[in-house]
Amino acid sequence: MTVNLLGLDANALAAFVAELGEKPFRSKQLLRWVHRAGESRFAEMTDLARSLREKLAKSAVVSVPPVISDSVSGDGTRKWLLDVGGGNAVETVFIPETNRGTLCVSSQAGCTLGCEFCATGKQGFNRNLTTAEIVGQLWLANRLLAAASAGERTGLSEGAAPGERTGLSERVASGERVVSNVVLMGMGEPLLNFDNVVPALRLMLDDNAYGLSRRRVTLSTSGIVPLIDRLREECPVALAVSLHAPNDALRDRLMPINRKYPLRDLLAACRRYLERAPRDGDAAGEDGWPSMPDKHGYRPGAPRDFVTFEYVLLSGVNDSEHHATELIALLEDVPSKINLIPFNPFPGADFQRSPPEAVRRFSEVLNSAGIVTTTRKTRGDDIDAACGQLAGQVQDRTRRIIRMEAA
Ligand code: SAH
Ligand code: SF4
Repeated sequence: MTVNLLGLDANALAAFVAELGEKPFRSKQLLRWVHRAGESRFAEMTDLARSLREKLAKSAVVSVPPVISDSVSGDGTRKWLLDVGGGNAVETVFIPETNRGTLCVSSQAGCTLGCEFCATGKQGFNRNLTTAEIVGQLWLANRLLAAASAGERTGLSEGAAPGERTGLSERVASGERVVSNVVLMGMGEPLLNFDNVVPALRLMLDDNAYGLSRRRVTLSTSGIVPLIDRLREECPVALAVSLHAPNDALRDRLMPINRKYPLRDLLAACRRYLERAPRDGDAAGEDGWPSMPDKHGYRPGAPRDFVTFEYVLLSGVNDSEHHATELIALLEDVPSKINLIPFNPFPGADFQRSPPEAVRRFSEVLNSAGIVTTTRKTRGDDIDAACGQLAGQVQDRTRRIIRMEAA
């Protein structure tokens, strides 16, 4: 069986390398070649023994989903549509800003949760993406963006002598416009694909792979309470929570998941996420944080001391001053920042974007209560790459089953 190395985090790669009968340091070299240098051809991995390169050629690949389309918005936002097989396609979006480049990554083909205001939710669900398909989005974006900035056609190392090769990390360090931040805010609910998402996060954080700090990797969730706790235990990264309503009655209507995990439970999970209490066996570091690495080699504890709450403003639905006041009371006990998102329309949507005046007022009320509130700029809407517009292409197995039952 051929293994896709993009799907193996450091531990899994070490096990694979051991199975091949190779020394452990080879797995570190491989991680660097695959993720840092963006190399997919084993023959080019010049500091690996020829015998190992031959073994790899027989048993492994570095393979990403084919790109169906590549669009660039007037504001520089770039969107790739990736073919993940079976008639399904997912989207990845790169948002360049002055001092950073953020990649918005998808975690599922579709979403099971059916939020009323979301194009992804409206189209149903087909399947979870694999770790390789999730990390592959970052691998591909780094490669395509670096290639574009170097004026190359196909990739980083084409035609370069080994000594001339420049690693992506060096390019990032030298300020080139490649990915410096990742947000899991594309298609799908990342926590409902936990087992594939966590190894992907570990690779994003791994110094031998992408080396992003935990503060620069943000997972956005609709609020799957038990899995927020598990994320904190297993791989804490910056947390964003899609709130969108200040009370259960309204949130039940906009986000059906709220009926299972209501606001009270969700906010308690957010507070736990931010707790710094060391676990048994952890020694506290100078700053009071647990300093002992966990079983995966990482130091446990939340990487940021606040949760970002996303709040999409829907005209006449959740955007009054009264809603803002309710929100302030709701978040009283949770260190928070609020990110207001103007609603992005999509075909068949039943909502309208709040007028700028309503957005301004809503934001003012929150800010004057001392809650840091930002309004997300709409980026890439001319290529349908803005939040909530990502629809890709999903063959909806869920709905087909329902239709069959109804027939
Ligand atoms: N499933 C996760 C992550 C993906 S959605 C979650 O719900 O958090 C990324 C963000 O875009 C979420 O905050 C989501 O609520 C928001 N969003 C969805 N549809 C939108 C729309 N039409 N306009 C603006 N934001 C939207
Ligand atoms: Fe799924 Fe998030 Fe869209 Fe809700 S907002 S349907 S959870 S992707």
